[in-house]
Amino acid sequence: MFPSRGGLREVPCPGLISENKCTVLNCLFLHEIRRDRKRKLEHPQETERIKASQSSNASHPKSLGSRETKLSKVEKIAPSAQTTYNTKSSLARTGSTSSARTGSASSARTGSASSARPESGVSVAANTSGSSGPSGPSGSSHKSVPTGPTGPSGPGMDATKLAPTPVLPYGPATLQQRMSYLKVIQKALVAANYGLPNATAIQAEYDVASNSTKVTYPVNIRKLVAEIKTGKYLLDDSDEKEAAKKRLIRERLEKVVLDPKMLKKWSYIVDPVVPGTFDPHRIENCVRCGQEFSVADTKEVECRYHALKPVFKYDYVESKKIKTYGCCSEPAEQSQGCTLAHHHVFKLNGAADLASVIPFSPTPASNGPKWLFAAGLDCEMGFTSFGVELIRVTVVDWDTRDTVLDTLVHPYGKVIDLNSRFSGVHSLSDGIKDPKDGTIRPAVTFNEAREMLFQYVSANTILIGHGLENDLNALRIIHHRVVDTALMYPKFNPVFRLSLKTLAFRYLSRVIQDGEHDSSEDAIAAMDVVLKNIDTN
Ligand SMILES: [Zn+2]
Ligand SMILES: [Zn+2]
Ligand SMILES: [Zn+2]
Repeated sequence: MFPSRGGLREVPCPGLISENKCTVLNCLFLHEIRRDRKRKLEHPQETERIKASQSSNASHPKSLGSRETKLSKVEKIAPSAQTTYNTKSSLARTGSTSSARTGSASSARTGSASSARPESGVSVAANTSGSSGPSGPSGSSHKSVPTGPTGPSGPGMDATKLAPTPVLPYGPATLQQRMSYLKVIQKALVAANYGLPNATAIQAEYDVASNSTKVTYPVNIRKLVAEIKTGKYLLDDSDEKEAAKKRLIRERLEKVVLDPKMLKKWSYIVDPVVPGTFDPHRIENCVRCGQEFSVADTKEVECRYHALKPVFKYDYVESKKIKTYGCCSEPAEQSQGCTLAHHHVFKLNGAADLASVIPFSPTPASNGPKWLFAAGLDCEMGFTSFGVELIRVTVVDWDTRDTVLDTLVHPYGKVIDLNSRFSGVHSLSDGIKDPKDGTIRPAVTFNEAREMLFQYVSANTILIGHGLENDLNALRIIHHRVVDTALMYPKFNPVFRLSLKTLAFRYLSRVIQDGEHDSSEDAIAAMDVVLKNIDTN
């Protein structure tokens, strides 16, 4: 069967094959070979399949094969003989200084079915004097590429002949059909004042055609035309650069994820936990005043304590360093605390004890509907009749720094002290005001909170936080992908730890926790400390 007139454009030029040159004016045969480098790398098997179907479909299978071989030889022998014409640089929108988006991005946005596609830049072997290898194509002066980088610009100044670029082994429509769509695209580009409307239309139509099926092709063309009409086609490519940067940062973040075996060493709970039994009459030492008390004892007592630990400060009167409490500046020898509470409080530490109140749950193996690659996590805890319990959980997306989850949580035990000075939580019944729409979100149950968390966080999510074992224990989750700023910075040292406040000031010149803690602020600060370290190292 002899191919139709339009079909000739899919058949390699016989002159080019036999004599390495073609002298026919307006020759109807194919003169360009698209080099599917990207596709070869990503889908070697698919390339083989395409080659096979090319051989069976093309009129000169052997010739095509040998031409391809020659071309790749030239690439190896004399890469300088190759001139790459990338249409990207020439497809700028009129009046815009930004470079045009590549075809791959635009075709992705038009909802194409396949992600594998040839490079948008069309490469042609150019005959530069003397530099071409002996087997190089000596006379391939034909260039089917729309325009070179120095081509004309501005609407109506496009000398490129409007014709669809063949898609191998076969396109989603006949060349006649594609030509009619091409005209529609070109018309839309002219109307929307795009530069190089013909070249742009050819490239855009090719991107859609090479990524569409017979069924999706007209749909994707319509989407493309709609994008052109609304000015969304070929926007600034800064979001592409941003995506590349995002990928790089993700790779670096992966590298600082702590080894689960080592996490275990630093008191993270990483293995399944067999719950102990919670003894309601257990005797504990108050974590504030140190006094021994029975957990069952609910009558009011005097618990005097200092809210902050003692720190060394220089006393100018005494001309020496003295240890004073951070909360009240009283000397460390002072026996009486500056703060009075009416109940002693305690904290469960062992895994079995923690599990005796609420069992541990591993983060889900599969990713939920709103899954995050990485997230900052910060929990606030209060004192209850079951020790230290979760009262607020906040999750911030690593990629966007958006707070995706922030909710108050009703603990299981009876609330003794919300630890407002640190937690920033003054009441559980008031709920949290949504910063975006101002609505009040009431506190949820512990199980509801954990289910909400699992929509965003799976076992694959990298969780970032400061002293994250406390947060994970409060949530009773077992999680293995952790970046802990308390362990890692300024250098890896699990024993001597700096506060997040200190790290934020040192690395970010940011003052946090000036008053009460803000969960989102803390989660973001931890992520930013990590980012600062992986971005500069
Ligand atoms: Zn020819
Ligand atoms: Zn004090
Ligand atoms: Zn006490």
